[in-house]
Amino acid sequence: MNTGATEEERKIFHFLKSQGCCLRCCFRFIGCRTAEYYCKPYEFAVQLNYANEGDFTEKTPCIACLGVLQDKAQENVVTKIVEKVKEKDYDCKTFTCALIIPVSVKLREHILYAYMSKEIDMHDYVLNTFKMKLQNVKDSWKSFIIPQLEQATGKRADLSTPSPFLIEIFLAYADDELIFSGLMNEHKETNYKQRKRKCNNNKFSRKNVDNLLIETTDEQLMQHIKISQITPKTFVHVDDILCSHSSLFIGGRYNKFSRKLSQTPWLINGEKKVETSVQDLLCNPIAEIVKAESIKFLSSGREDVDVRNIYNGRPFAVELLNPHMTDITTEILAHLTESINQSTKQVQITSSLKILTRFDLKKLKEGENVKTKFYRALCVCRNASENLSQLEHLNKLKNVKIIQKTPVRVLHRRPLSPRTRIIYEMRARWVKPHELKLLHTTVESNDSFFVLDVKTQAGTYVKEFVHGDFGRTKPSLCDFLNAEVDIIALDVTSINLNWP
Ligand SMILES: [Zn+2]
Repeated sequence: MNTGATEEERKIFHFLKSQGCCLRCCFRFIGCRTAEYYCKPYEFAVQLNYANEGDFTEKTPCIACLGVLQDKAQENVVTKIVEKVKEKDYDCKTFTCALIIPVSVKLREHILYAYMSKEIDMHDYVLNTFKMKLQNVKDSWKSFIIPQLEQATGKRADLSTPSPFLIEIFLAYADDELIFSGLMNEHKETNYKQRKRKCNNNKFSRKNVDNLLIETTDEQLMQHIKISQITPKTFVHVDDILCSHSSLFIGGRYNKFSRKLSQTPWLINGEKKVETSVQDLLCNPIAEIVKAESIKFLSSGREDVDVRNIYNGRPFAVELLNPHMTDITTEILAHLTESINQSTKQVQITSSLKILTRFDLKKLKEGENVKTKFYRALCVCRNASENLSQLEHLNKLKNVKIIQKTPVRVLHRRPLSPRTRIIYEMRARWVKPHELKLLHTTVESNDSFFVLDVKTQAGTYVKEFVHGDFGRTKPSLCDFLNAEVDIIALDVTSINLNWP
């Protein structure tokens, strides 16, 4: 170990100490990067001959860091962080800390440098090298606080890659604005005319301090502020501690068996207008298990209220914001699927639920545009007895191009220019008499019912393709069959996507 401090280091160390800097700040200013020095500053200060034993008591707040790096203030901070983390009960095994310190710390460092260059005998270029090496407060803080937090919380700090679990610690200092208000006001006055700043209520913001430091020379700084003026009387205090976990995504496929269920809650002025929705039925139980703060429902397209979705189901995902429980096993997911499926008959999960990555989600979004879709429609031909034989013709049509103007039913929502879609294939058959009995619909004597299976390009308005939408979709089944055709019911039968 290097036991001999250089002459310059010693000068800086002593100057700062005499002005009221804490030991850790002294180490920072001489560019020390060794974590151990910040963990045991007294031992190393003595060992390196910066001080004699008993020299440092540190009863007063440090003029540079305001106590951010002093044990006296930080014992309390550690206790508060640990309390908060335990209270919030996140199960994540790792954490990342973000420390927010008072704005004035940077300003204080500059003022100390200004006086240092004036009062100690040292070449400017030597002092400048030290300035470049200054270790920042946050890293110094982490060096000695993180091990304490790890021990007290039983969680490991992720230093290389950020942990999804973030603890933000806001340290504030009460008298900052008062001490520097003169300086800040002066700076604002002189720059006001050139810059025409927007009226900023928070004069003492990080940005304003940065600007001030760029535009002010050391001499100007010293004219305004004496070191004795910035001597703090109190230590920093904890303003707030926030815990959060990044989103967790869980996905699968669902069937919808109800023709009276909307996909998302229908809200008017924040009030629910329908009892429940696909989103509520699927996502609320998941959010409850992981103790998420809120959710976002993501699905590959959506079905209308009156459209069912049968067979293999529609791909969906739920983003769980700020989840507290993230250690989700396959057993938990299986149990969750089972309880959701038992809780309702309106929707059912048809695949196993899976924890998703952001890459998976991209697939969900992309799938919305590229895939083909399969539908089954129950249709009726009215007053068209002489044309009935034409039904089989539909089965021979391949890749029919249709042009659809925005349907009347969605016109108020999104009037778009006409779009071209392709009907890849169709298969139609008459409804058998015994099937007809099962239909809960009024049957007129000259109505003829048929079932149409259709494979289409994503984004096709299938209902309009059947009834023609007052001529807004061309050609439609009315054109092919030369009859008045209407749609009774529609099911989504397949959505091609490798999911989840
Ligand atoms: Zn300090």
